[in-house]
Amino acid sequence: MTVETSVNGKSRDPSGARGEQESNGGGLWDSVKKAAFIIGSGILFLAAFGNSLTWHLQRFWGASGDFWQDLWTKLCVAFEGHDEALFYFGTMLLPSLTFWGLNALLLVVDTTGKPSFITRYRIQLDKNNPVDPAKLRQALKCVTLNQLFISGPIVVGVYHLMSLRGAPCSPELPTFHRALMELAFFSILEEIMFYYSHRLFHQPNLYKRFHKQHHEWTAPVGVVATYAHPLEHVLSNLLPVVIGPVILGSHVSTTSMWYCVALISTTISHCGYHLPFLPSPEFHDFHHLRFNQCYGVFGVLDRLHGTDDKFRQSKQYERHTLLTGLTPLNESIPDAPKKAL
Ligand SMILES: [Zn+2]
Ligand SMILES: [Zn+2]
Repeated sequence: MTVETSVNGKSRDPSGARGEQESNGGGLWDSVKKAAFIIGSGILFLAAFGNSLTWHLQRFWGASGDFWQDLWTKLCVAFEGHDEALFYFGTMLLPSLTFWGLNALLLVVDTTGKPSFITRYRIQLDKNNPVDPAKLRQALKCVTLNQLFISGPIVVGVYHLMSLRGAPCSPELPTFHRALMELAFFSILEEIMFYYSHRLFHQPNLYKRFHKQHHEWTAPVGVVATYAHPLEHVLSNLLPVVIGPVILGSHVSTTSMWYCVALISTTISHCGYHLPFLPSPEFHDFHHLRFNQCYGVFGVLDRLHGTDDKFRQSKQYERHTLLTGLTPLNESIPDAPKKAL
């Protein structure tokens, strides 16, 4: 893995810029205490108002809950006596198909530069137009190996852990209320674990040995989401996602939905296009561009630790919103004109 961070004609020294980051993250312990307070308050708020919120949503859910239960009962009958197979179907096959299905579409756009109604939403306009085939092949190889030889065995381990806690494939689906609360918990846990493990991987020694590989892409594409050194893949990509359902002893349906949501969300974060009506990928795209900003998933901990200060002064921050029209944000909020030399 020798591609330098000078790819795409832009030479940056991530370790050199890190000094600034460490200075603004100075009172780390203070920030951790602040983070614990805010996250604790969030959990209390959910506990206090969660019931009435989900009661309304449950009413909206209504009869479709029966539809999903009927579907699940049919699946249970089809897989009778093969809980393990049913678990892998939900937590390996379905999330993998979701990931590759979405990325196949993105790869068509990245490799052909068409259709233009998608490419006009590219965030870093002069990059990946089209993507470097050799670099992409290398990324695809690594992503496939990570999936087959790391994610796969870890999901096997997760099945055995969850079976110790109970029956992840029980015949009764969790209530809508329960599934929603669990997804909220998984998201909070992911933000905490991803932020700190990711920031740890930016320490100069660890960065050089492990995380630099992921940052070879200063302008990422969808599959780069899991293009990482095996150790980083385990600690930063998998652990923050798989630990939540193990802690709560979740049903396989919730676990499967969560894995799919996590894979879709990280693919969108890396895809390089800010498309209408989809979550904004500007935050993590900025991390790839600048290295020492925007370490988290939702940005809560970056705000607390001040690791989004430069991002908040940037054009990308102005564009970091849900695009509800068809005009690309790099047109409605253009870059400042470059100063003449
Ligand atoms: Zn990334
Ligand atoms: Zn990073």
